Amino acid sequence: MAIYYKYSQYLKEKHGEKTYKLPLNLPLTCPNRDGQLGEEGCYYCGEQAAGFESEPDESVRQQLLDLKDHIGEKYNAKKFIAYFQNFTNTYLPLSKLRMYVREALTVEDIVEIVLSTRPDCVSYKYLKGIRDLVNTVDSSVSLSLELGLQTVNYHTLKKANRGHSLAQFIDAVLTARTCDYETGAHLILNLPGDEMEDVRENARVLSALRVDNVKLHALYLREGTEFARQYQAGELEIIPMEEYIERVITFLEHLDPRIAVQRLLGRAPRDTSVFVNWGKDNRKIQQMILEEMKERETYQGRKFDYLQGSCLQKFNS
Ligand code: SF4
Repeated sequence: MAIYYKYSQYLKEKHGEKTYKLPLNLPLTCPNRDGQLGEEGCYYCGEQAAGFESEPDESVRQQLLDLKDHIGEKYNAKKFIAYFQNFTNTYLPLSKLRMYVREALTVEDIVEIVLSTRPDCVSYKYLKGIRDLVNTVDSSVSLSLELGLQTVNYHTLKKANRGHSLAQFIDAVLTARTCDYETGAHLILNLPGDEMEDVRENARVLSALRVDNVKLHALYLREGTEFARQYQAGELEIIPMEEYIERVITFLEHLDPRIAVQRLLGRAPRDTSVFVNWGKDNRKIQQMILEEMKERETYQGRKFDYLQGSCLQKFNS
């Protein structure tokens, strides 16, 4: 039995073979940076918002072709996902995002479009506008929405200056489903202020909402961010790596086993960061988590027993 349900496996089942994400880099911004909500951004957000392989002045088609060549050759891959990754993609005017998506659909072997965004930049009208376009051009291409949630604890969301609420995340997931999108959520399991109970509640809320996938991160501190400043001033502490490992295990144990997990922690460039993964390689920590779970004979969903009237179970015996 697998220790957890890997996203790569989920994509294989969905598309019939290994499928790879091609991350796009577009010239856009985010309401938490351009002044709509604020200018500081989330307190952990580095200047560039994500790591990129492409230049934003290249066309969507060219970026996808270049990445496809590179990844296709390296992994002998034949199916790909156009991953609109950076900043807040649905904060673009709808006509503009439709133009980019249309361009992505001109690239052969694209089987899925993934849009990464904030929960407060999702509306039925907007998502339907993209859905209608995809259905018109090639209805076999699937659509997914990746939502930055980070934590279900709305006090912690405030402390991290996220600028959105838990309610907006729930609304975004339900709205996406009505437009036939799959949904994913990003979580940081060690945001300052969160405790183990928040980690369990993260798993419970995502399971109750039946999202399709989740991507986990450990908090890293990019130079110039507010959290990096707080850390250097001794105002912010990061939990020890052993505690992070415990949190990931607890999260997975409580997560619905049908939810695919994209990764157990991320990575960031060390030369422009104040703190990344306790100075260790992310793959090494991932390995430690898996070994620990194996040792304990535990797995994703082992404690997924709390939905659907858990107190009524006594009547079934
Ligand atoms: S929503 Fe994303 S892009 Fe915007 S400030 Fe936060 S982390 Fe950065």
